[in-house]
Amino acid sequence: MFGRAQRKSDNTKYYEILGVSKSASQDELKKAYRKAAIKNHPDKGGDPEKFKELAQAYDVLSDPEKRDIYDQYGEDALKEGMGGGGSSHSPFDIFEQFFGGGGAFGGGSSRGRRQKQGEDVVHTLKVSLEDLYNGTSKKLSLSRNVLCSKCKGKGSKSGASGRCYGCQGSGVRTVTRQIGLGMIQQMQHVCPECRGAGEVISDKDKCPQCKGNKVVQEKKVLEVHVEKGMQHGQKIVFQGEADEAPDTVAGDIVFVLQLKEHPKFKRKFDDLYVEHTLSLTEALCGFQFALTHLDGRQLLIKSNPGEVIKPDQHKAINDEGMPQHGRPFMKGRLYIQFNVEFPDSGILSPDKSRALEKILPPRPSAHLPDMELDECEETTMYDVNIEEEMRRKQQQQQQEAYDEDEDAGPRVQCAQQ
Ligand SMILES: [Zn+2]
Ligand SMILES: [Zn+2]
Repeated sequence: MFGRAQRKSDNTKYYEILGVSKSASQDELKKAYRKAAIKNHPDKGGDPEKFKELAQAYDVLSDPEKRDIYDQYGEDALKEGMGGGGSSHSPFDIFEQFFGGGGAFGGGSSRGRRQKQGEDVVHTLKVSLEDLYNGTSKKLSLSRNVLCSKCKGKGSKSGASGRCYGCQGSGVRTVTRQIGLGMIQQMQHVCPECRGAGEVISDKDKCPQCKGNKVVQEKKVLEVHVEKGMQHGQKIVFQGEADEAPDTVAGDIVFVLQLKEHPKFKRKFDDLYVEHTLSLTEALCGFQFALTHLDGRQLLIKSNPGEVIKPDQHKAINDEGMPQHGRPFMKGRLYIQFNVEFPDSGILSPDKSRALEKILPPRPSAHLPDMELDECEETTMYDVNIEEEMRRKQQQQQQEAYDEDEDAGPRVQCAQQ
């Protein structure tokens, strides 16, 4: 329902970014990307966001399989498919792949200034089975670093920064020491004066808003849309919403859905499982009950006339399972497992027992003939709790194994002496 309209408009964006038609050939895509990527490369003063978008668009459209998914379902479908969001390829990796990795602008100097890929921030998001059945949205308040708006991430009022004396602007300090005859050890440390930035800002010139830190903390409310039919472990990605830092492409904020156990329903893929216990009377003579579904609807569950339900028997109801993600109108099955609770001993007097026997199907064979009965030995049965018995036996065995080890220990020592 909601998916359709939204997704339709979603699958033209990448073509628009590259400025090509939807029917563009691989050759046309290549040419368009080459032109735009060079123009927008951050080393040439281009906008990093635009550059990232270009690389992403090209990454998808140049891969026939990804392009197909994108054309059909839009950007979101790709994110889900890749799991990690677009962060697996940095825009620079794509750029280098395209241009052969040699550094498009010749010379290593541009590489030193190339943008780093910021780290992704991963959160778990607890959801109930009701949330995944009905869909929901959760507002989460997070704080993150953003580039200071006052100095635009420069850290200084003047916009200028001095080269650090400690490291000559390289951000690292190399310490050389002689450790033996003609042997020299070189060690590199992060420069303590500029903390690796390679530049320093004088106290007077520091930006009053960020105090020269270039970034400030910002509180942000993210609205996470949990869509119908999403799975435990599925990722919801907010691209580029992680911490900002100078010369860095901000990483993604990733929410990983974590399903809380439901007291009644279990889920397997698109199917739901529920257990229901019937009394012996219900199992033999028929039953009906109301089952409250995950959206609050009451389902009437009833047996057919004359139907007998056996212990552990399963039945299924079509279209009452989980909605499929992306196609919520398609639903799986609801499986019901029936347990049958037998009445306790003593409920049947000999009279009632005889009456019941007349109704129930006859015994498989008549009584043993008297002669065979004479040849049998009498036995006595008593009630046991089988789990309790097993536990006791296991403990006993462990104790015996332990005792044997104890005995073996000193004997080995004796042999050594
Ligand atoms: Zn330094
Ligand atoms: Zn500032």
